[in-house]
Amino acid sequence: MELRAQPRIVIVGAGQAGGTLAALLRQYGHAGPITLIGDEPIPPYQRPPLSKAWLKGETAAERLALKPLKFYVDKFIDFRPNVRAVKLERSARKVQLSGGTEVGYDFLALATGARAIALPIPGANLEGVMFLRTAADAVTMKAEVGPGKRLAVIGAGYIGLEVAASGRALGAEVVVLEREARPLPRVVCEVLSTFVRKYHEKHGVKFELGVKARSFEGDGRRITGVRLADGRLIRCDAAVVGIGAHPNDELAAEAGLQTARGIVVDLEARTSDPYVFAIGDVAHRPMPIYGRMFRMESVPNALEQAKQAAAAIVGRPPPAGEVPWQWSDQYDLKLQIAGYPFDVDETVVRGDPARDKFAVFHLMGNKLQSVEAINAPAEFVVGRQLIGSRKAVDKRRLADPTVSMKEFSV
Ligand code: FAD
Repeated sequence: MELRAQPRIVIVGAGQAGGTLAALLRQYGHAGPITLIGDEPIPPYQRPPLSKAWLKGETAAERLALKPLKFYVDKFIDFRPNVRAVKLERSARKVQLSGGTEVGYDFLALATGARAIALPIPGANLEGVMFLRTAADAVTMKAEVGPGKRLAVIGAGYIGLEVAASGRALGAEVVVLEREARPLPRVVCEVLSTFVRKYHEKHGVKFELGVKARSFEGDGRRITGVRLADGRLIRCDAAVVGIGAHPNDELAAEAGLQTARGIVVDLEARTSDPYVFAIGDVAHRPMPIYGRMFRMESVPNALEQAKQAAAAIVGRPPPAGEVPWQWSDQYDLKLQIAGYPFDVDETVVRGDPARDKFAVFHLMGNKLQSVEAINAPAEFVVGRQLIGSRKAVDKRRLADPTVSMKEFSV
């Protein structure tokens, strides 16, 4: 291809959203300069395997890349690794970069993602206290998890539980410490939480629920345990903190863009500045199905918003709205979730948790708001269609596993 005099696009953040946007712009025919700035040393990659297949040694590191480095060269995408955007100058349409250089844009996309929230308790700097956000974090973690090692997981969210499952597969002893009374407290219903806890326990994971970590204890250099607020010491050789992520929205906020724990965007992924877009984990976006704005941390969301921004930049019609969804793999379980259980007044379980295959449907009146599926792909797929279509559903039939999901198909 040949570069033409078309708008200059700068993308800050070379992750799932930024990498996808760069590729889509070329796919949609944008022939102007594209600069992709990332503060990590490698081209955009998928993070989900870091806590799953890659951690267990089932996927090679090269397979994590969204595209090989050659792709960016061939497509004239100026990918700049190890470079950080440090300031936006919106009036001059410039981004200041680490190292003292700057780059001008006609359209800017902020795809800076989110970072792991730190646990500000004594001992947090001890060796063996870890987070999992980047490929580099994952390399550190892999060296710490192995046969006979005792791993404390702080936070029973998706990442914590995935690390727990992978840790068990690698032969580690795992204890999960969670402040709330159940695992996945903020993201799934109680039926699913109970099922997930029992499944982990069956695989040898211990849970300490309703507890608070007060400090990391160590020998002066390395962690030796986690002290709980109730005084007990949970001995461990390493700990991973998985208590959530914070959007990297400071660049935008400092430049005066509207933020609300995330950069506020519209359905074209456009911020309060028409020349600036924000996509992926960093964006606080509208979700028309629910008449709400919120921030999502998932690959499907990053891909959807990359499509929205790419379409808006090249002047294509906006893509059709999608129903939000995400997944998690733990042991041989496939957990798939579509939608969010906002304003729900009834919950219907289909299938049998005792057989490790079931779905929980959350309804508002006779409309489906969300579905949580364990090893139940048909329930997930059709549930997702029903959420998007807003079609009325017969709850009694939905709960009846002898009625095929095809009958509800939209
Ligand atoms: P990121 O992929 O985080 O990319 C942002 C990039 O911007 C990073 O490289 C960051 O270093 C860089 N950056 C930030 N600030 C600057 C700056 N100033 N200058 C330059 N670069 C900057 N989602 C699922 O749907 N399913 C899963 O199973 C799943 N598993 C996950 C497991 C793990 C361990 C993790 C960490 C995440 C997982 N996710 C999963 C979430 C998913 O990976 C994210 O939603 C997705 O990566 C978001 O893409 P993003 O581009 O917005 O952010």
